[in-house]
Amino acid sequence: MNKNTEKELIKNNILGKELFSSEDIRKRVSDLGRDITADYKNKDLLLISVLRGGVIFLSDLIKQIDLPLSIDFISISKYGIDDTSTGVVRITKDLDESIEGKDVLIVEDIIDTGLTISYLLRNLRSRLPKSIELCTLLDRDIRRISDIHIRYIGFKIGEKYIVGYGLDYKQKFRNISSVYELKLDTVKKDVESLKSSSNV
Ligand code: 5GP
Repeated sequence: MNKNTEKELIKNNILGKELFSSEDIRKRVSDLGRDITADYKNKDLLLISVLRGGVIFLSDLIKQIDLPLSIDFISISKYGIDDTSTGVVRITKDLDESIEGKDVLIVEDIIDTGLTISYLLRNLRSRLPKSIELCTLLDRDIRRISDIHIRYIGFKIGEKYIVGYGLDYKQKFRNISSVYELKLDTVKKDVESLKSSSNV
């Protein structure tokens, strides 16, 4: 997205504070790529991206890993009264390849309560990978419910809802190159006013 469009969204009180600029992210992704390169020498590295939010992070991260590797994709959707209430998750698109004997690194955009990733870990462990680790761009550990170990963390964040760099709100804002707080109050009001005008 053009920087001027981002400025317009800030002016209209839709985007709040810029938490991580594209330059902050570029540097951190490069550090993570260097660490992963050091840790996975002579291993059969397979990165699994959880669709759709993790895709932009994955595509930047793999360019910073100086090793032979493969990628695969999985898509999941959550059941529950609210999205995080149960941790019951359904696979809507499965991996294309077997992970048996592979050194798997799951690449996530954000880990919040950890319920989604716990389900995924349980499911993938049953497929007998040689090892399985987690890499997340954003870690909101203050809301964590599941006991999980995250090996690679880009940044820690607080309570506020985040968009940009692949993260969405109702499928929008993924194409912003920085990470922003979303002004949920303004966005929800906009949705409500669109609904009421279409009822007229
Ligand atoms: P968890 O199961 O860890 O509570 O939820 C993780 C998933 O919730 C993420 O993969 C993401 O889809 C969504 N999520 C949680 N917090 C945020 C947020 O602040 N912004 C966005 N865009 N998605 C979030």
